[in-house]
Amino acid sequence: MNVTVCQSCGMPLTTPAQFGTEADGSTTREYCIYCYKEGKFEQPGMSLEGMTEMCTAILKDEGMDEESARSMLRNQLPF
Ligand SMILES: [Zn+2]
Repeated sequence: MNVTVCQSCGMPLTTPAQFGTEADGSTTREYCIYCYKEGKFEQPGMSLEGMTEMCTAILKDEGMDEESARSMLRNQLPF
């Protein structure tokens, strides 16, 4: 499986709705919508811990259990 991950937070991008957007409204496959929106990085001051919490919530929404989501993120994020 070829999984695209956000180059900023490492979140797996599994649906087009998760891709970030450029200023012209096109999508980018480099970053997720939570990091990069309308050509700008979102929440530049966000901590990795905050990012982990946010991404854990997103993965839970997609049916992953919280512990696996959290440990996967801890492996992926540059702590
Ligand atoms: Zn991201």
